[in-house]
Amino acid sequence: MTYLEPQKEIDVYDDVDVIVVGGGPAGSSAALAAGRMGAKTLLIERFGCLGGVQSLGVAPLFMFPDPEVHGGIMKEILKRLEDGGATTKAKHLPKVDENSMIQKALLAMKVRDKLPKRMYESAGFWGQLGRAFDAEYYKLMLDEMMQEAEVKLMYHTFAAGVIREDDMLKGVVIESSEGRKAVMGKVVIDTTGMGDISRKSGAAIMGDEGFPVGNRKGRHVGMMIGYYIGGVNHEKFNAFCKENPEDWGAFFKGAAFVKQGIREGYHVRDMGIVLYNISDGRTWIQHAAYGLKGGRGYEIREQTSAEIEIRKQMYGLQKLFKDKIPGFESSYVQKAAILPLNGDPCRMLGEYVMTVADMRAGRIFEDSIGIANMPPDTFEMLGRMDFDILPYDIPYRCLISRDINNLMAAGTTMSSGGVSVCAMRFSAPSLAQGQGAGTAAAMSVKQGVSPKQVDIKALQDNLRRQGVYISVKERPDEAIEPYRAIQQLTMMGGKHEFFEDMNKY
Ligand SMILES: Cc1cc2nc3c(=O)[nH]c(=O)nc-3n(C[C@H](O)[C@H](O)[C@H](O)COP(=O)(O)OP(=O)(O)OC[C@H]3O[C@@H](n4cnc5c(N)ncnc54)[C@H](O)[C@@H]3O)c2cc1C
Repeated sequence: MTYLEPQKEIDVYDDVDVIVVGGGPAGSSAALAAGRMGAKTLLIERFGCLGGVQSLGVAPLFMFPDPEVHGGIMKEILKRLEDGGATTKAKHLPKVDENSMIQKALLAMKVRDKLPKRMYESAGFWGQLGRAFDAEYYKLMLDEMMQEAEVKLMYHTFAAGVIREDDMLKGVVIESSEGRKAVMGKVVIDTTGMGDISRKSGAAIMGDEGFPVGNRKGRHVGMMIGYYIGGVNHEKFNAFCKENPEDWGAFFKGAAFVKQGIREGYHVRDMGIVLYNISDGRTWIQHAAYGLKGGRGYEIREQTSAEIEIRKQMYGLQKLFKDKIPGFESSYVQKAAILPLNGDPCRMLGEYVMTVADMRAGRIFEDSIGIANMPPDTFEMLGRMDFDILPYDIPYRCLISRDINNLMAAGTTMSSGGVSVCAMRFSAPSLAQGQGAGTAAAMSVKQGVSPKQVDIKALQDNLRRQGVYISVKERPDEAIEPYRAIQQLTMMGGKHEFFEDMNKY
């Protein structure tokens, strides 16, 4: 059945240089960069704060931020969070996790004590999940940064469609409590975390393949959230973990406990739990997830089923903890995400598609706009995550649409393969891509050319002036050496049955 929507004239709410849709790490960084370059910039966000999945998904984390590979806005954000007392570095090398293959291998080869401090104080090789921060402060801080850069923010505004003429976007159609309106712009950057704008504009997209390799081959992963359980007695719980190291000593904790809970009728996901004790009786959990039932992550029925299932699992696990685990007797669900991470999202097809082979080789690109050090998070796909990558360049061509002259993308939506997206979507690479896209968008407007025609050398010079580390080839050997050691170890120690298959994606 269809309904013919009557044609109607709508108001133009604003007319700017750069429209950024989606206020996650990629969109925040893109808007900041464009605004700071003097472009009239509008950032549209369907919820009421910035940070995307980091804040709305209860995932206030930066994985592997390394001051030797991440410059620019990533470094600035960490500094501002530190200055605001909203994040702290690890002071000591954490204890060895007996279940971590990498840690054991590094220990055996006596590499552990030679790792530079920067590799453990905020990067996660030793068991911390990167740098955690206070999400509420992060939201305030990003608001302030936008105001300083004179970026116009539009909260509670949903980008419902695009205004396309031939190979150009003229603007975006928005829906809000004020109704349907248009915003016009010269460059549009899709940072929706699910290729929403690319898909709605009819540009070529990727993401229909599901996971191309591994035990979930061809299936879409689905959605996942983080949440907090409050009222936990950490002392009691830690003592319990110590007494039960087989099931509670691993990175993915309580796998056998969860299985037993399922046998007893608790509604929980059959998988070990990622869990961190945060201050004041608060425990962070990453466990609740929904596997898609044949559809895509942007479909209403899948999104609705996901929310219902995830909530059930969250309460199921909390009840299981409360009933069985010392320290959780007075626990309760304290805060849950309202925006799940979309496991294998739609992505804009760009002029280049980033692959796992590029990452493993630590590839250098002539059109690089920044460096990433994140390995693909293949846990859902392979049941483990490998660190067999070297820091690699992010090519500018991945940020520009193959089909539409003034459409760009960054973060989860950038042009990357079905496995490499599981690295590119992480927060640090998303910030780097955003900064590259925002800077290029502002340059293209200033010069009156398409983002495809922006001079790469001039773009790179601009980014260098902003403190971005442009390329692996410009970093000193000491910056890259620890990754070589880790790569060598994991490649020797790991089983790589999907190795060749994975490289293409
Ligand atoms: C439990 C969990 C743990 C995680 N752990 C880590 C970690 O340790 N380290 C790490 O780096 N990352 C981690 N992540 C992942 C990380 O948070 C995301 O990969 C990252 O936020 C992606 O950034 P993004 O900017 O591409 O998109 P998102 O963060 O998804 O932001 C997209 C934004 O666009 C908005 N939007 C979408 N469509 C529209 C529209 N049509 N109109 C207006 N607005 C729109 C959304 O509301 C959202 O705010 C974790 C995620 C989860 C769920």
